[in-house]
Amino acid sequence: MHSYISSPGKTVQILSRYGIRLKKSLGQNFLIDTNSAKKIISYAGVNADDVILEVGSGIGSLTEILFPNVKRVVCVEIDNHLIEAFKDIFSENLGEKIQLIKADALKLNYADIAGKYKINKVVSNLPYNIAAPLILKILIEAEDIKKLFITIQKDIAERLLASVGDKNYSSYTIKSNFLADFNFCFQISRNCFLPKPFVGSVVVEASRKDNRVLMDEDFKTGDFFDFVNSCFLHRRKKLINSLSQSNTRYCDKLELIIKLLSEIGKNRDVRAEELYLKDYISLYKKLNT
Ligand code: SAM
Repeated sequence: MHSYISSPGKTVQILSRYGIRLKKSLGQNFLIDTNSAKKIISYAGVNADDVILEVGSGIGSLTEILFPNVKRVVCVEIDNHLIEAFKDIFSENLGEKIQLIKADALKLNYADIAGKYKINKVVSNLPYNIAAPLILKILIEAEDIKKLFITIQKDIAERLLASVGDKNYSSYTIKSNFLADFNFCFQISRNCFLPKPFVGSVVVEASRKDNRVLMDEDFKTGDFFDFVNSCFLHRRKKLINSLSQSNTRYCDKLELIIKLLSEIGKNRDVRAEELYLKDYISLYKKLNT
């Protein structure tokens, strides 16, 4: 009977055969539950035309189940030792259905890579330490990638999925939700990873939003994100204080900001976590036109 890489026995066997010691600093918590791996691929609804980006392919626990069902999987991995094992395991498919890029995923340009390989989807069990910035980076850079199915630790999922007023509602929530809609798919217990992390994981679907209308109005995403960051600088303080203290661009616009806040039914004491994404977009547009 075929045993999958994602089975506990096969993972342990591969790690010992190649003398691999897993590194916490690289978020190396490998999926050791084949049912979860298959469920991720099934939620991703992959088909024979898909070109998938898999960041952090490790020893190929997901890759093995992904690649027979798609046109191609483009894997990114930083760890040389894992890359050697991966090349050996997938030697028959490398360069064809599986492309392996050795790189730090935070240093790649995703517009270039998505263009070169015609990538349309991401399916990845992301390294914990870089997951949050990486999700934003891919969404900002690679417009052709419309869908992401990402396995991330629970605390990051809570920040992506938070609603106004939740304790996890933050500038990160606003920025990520500006770029995409996020949906909870299912949870994966921490027992399904080796080594066992402190918290469980969640599979989240991200669907890119079409912000072309805003861009036509000369809306600058980077500036907008600076504005949001400034509003959230002191989470427990009033938004107008955080903004005027941290962003010189807005410090002489206090009266206008108070007027704009009142137009959306908020008073001058409002805190950053009380405003919706649409409020931030409207405030930013009115302050910058
Ligand atoms: N895909 C495998 C699985 O599902 O079991 C491994 C996932 S593990 C959570 C994350 C992987 O990302 C590890 O293989 C790790 O070496 C890799 N990684 C960590 N930091 C990285 C980085 N900056 N760039 C690329 N890969 C990275």
